Amino acid sequence: MTRDALDALGDVCERAGPADEVAGVRAAYVARPGDAAQVADVLRAAAAHDLAVVARGGGTRLHWGLPPARADLVLDLSGLDRIVDHAAGDLVLIAEAGARVADVQRRLATAGQRLAVDAPTPGATLGGTVATGHSGPSRLLAGPIKDQIIGISVVRADGTPASSGGRVVKNVAGYDLGRLMCGSYGTLAVLTRLIFRLRPLPAARAFVTAPVLGPSLAAPLIEAVAAAQLVPSAIELHLPAPPHDDAAGPATGAVVVLVEGAPAGVAARAAAVRDLLRRTGAEEVHVRADAPPGWGTLPTQGLPAHGLPAPDLPAHSLPARVVAAQAPAAQDLRTTGGGTLLRLTFVRSGLPAVLSAARDAGAAVSGSAAAGVLTAMLGPGPGERAMATPEHVAAALARLRTVCARHGGGAIVLDAPAAVRDAVDVWGPVPALDLMRRVKAQFDPAHRLSPGRFVGGI
Ligand SMILES: Cc1cc2nc3c(=O)[nH]c(=O)nc-3n(C[C@H](O)[C@H](O)[C@H](O)COP(=O)(O)OP(=O)(O)OC[C@H]3O[C@@H](n4cnc5c(N)ncnc54)[C@H](O)[C@@H]3O)c2cc1C
Repeated sequence: MTRDALDALGDVCERAGPADEVAGVRAAYVARPGDAAQVADVLRAAAAHDLAVVARGGGTRLHWGLPPARADLVLDLSGLDRIVDHAAGDLVLIAEAGARVADVQRRLATAGQRLAVDAPTPGATLGGTVATGHSGPSRLLAGPIKDQIIGISVVRADGTPASSGGRVVKNVAGYDLGRLMCGSYGTLAVLTRLIFRLRPLPAARAFVTAPVLGPSLAAPLIEAVAAAQLVPSAIELHLPAPPHDDAAGPATGAVVVLVEGAPAGVAARAAAVRDLLRRTGAEEVHVRADAPPGWGTLPTQGLPAHGLPAPDLPAHSLPARVVAAQAPAAQDLRTTGGGTLLRLTFVRSGLPAVLSAARDAGAAVSGSAAAGVLTAMLGPGPGERAMATPEHVAAALARLRTVCARHGGGAIVLDAPAAVRDAVDVWGPVPALDLMRRVKAQFDPAHRLSPGRFVGGI
């Protein structure tokens, strides 16, 4: 970058340090704007000097997706962290994209409300969570993150601000920019402000946990609860990788059902879920007020098993407990320990086949099984070195893609060591690729926003 370009980027820009890398690609400069107007100034200057720009929220998942073809400038959104308006009476939140999800949830909890967005990574921001498009346990009750967004403001690659939607929940006019930005990995525009619909915090909640050894019991338990009239808020599954010849003891996983609502109703529904799980074959069922360890996290190595009863926490108010469940202690989330992390999607009826294929591949799985979204981790654990080879991952991925496609979904690689990323098609087949390329060309014709990170080189 020339001195001219650095001058044009202004006071908010400086030379990048070792931490300013994106999936192994070191940026030359980092900009830290304090508001949307400065974001627009930086993007205009970057456009004038043909700089490739990668937006960064908390930086916790910058290595997901493909490495960018180039990354001249990291645009750090952490300065845009304000809650602009919390209209509690309307159940609406307006916040800047760099606000941390955990901070937002804490603030909303004081008014007895919450955002139905799961982000257990401590530093995750609203913008990064929307841009990676991930959902967690709340998906069963509230749908994916795109269903929570009612308005959005972005800055396009050339520095032009754009907005759609607004604070009115029934907003159907115009182009649905919010849905388009979900899962776009920063390739279409930089998110600056988001408007979300909110939900009241429940007065009570119960986690009903049934330990399971593998898919043969897990799948019928999940189907029984999903098909009953018990209105669970979440049905989560955690299955560790199946044991290997040289690994001791059986794998222990769990099906965990979350029931929320008024205290009397929750107690009755939790008891009904417990009875149903027992009738369907669960030998042991626990009912607890607090989330089990590992609730809503990815199947990274070394997470505590869901099947273990949660420790008794000191009594405090429900909102504080809910927030604690949404933001557990920091783990080393930047590494998969050499393993490959996949996202599997499917219609619910495909669950037994998907779980069986994941088991054959030697994968640990967890996620919202009843909503048809699971994450799978392919080795390596103790004695599992062979599972980490690119050949093993490629073969397992191909098989999982076939099974998920047969059941209306697919499989993508979220995170993997470089050797695996080089050996496999990270995004897999995408039927609407031409349309996606046309959308990219409209938003970012010069291909300067996170170039090459997304499907088909977008
Ligand atoms: C239920 C659930 C469980 C999860 N469990 C885990 C877990 O156990 N371990 C784990 O590591 N992660 C987990 N995640 C993912 C975690 O929440 C992500 O770290 C988070 O979504 C990314 O936020 P970030 O601010 O750190 O984004 P970054 O890592 O900074 O960015 C992520 C992507 O978004 C883009 N981006 C960021 N901000 C913007 C913006 N303002 N405009 C445009 N593009 C932008 C970036 O360019 C990048 O492509 C989970 C997510 C969910 C929903």
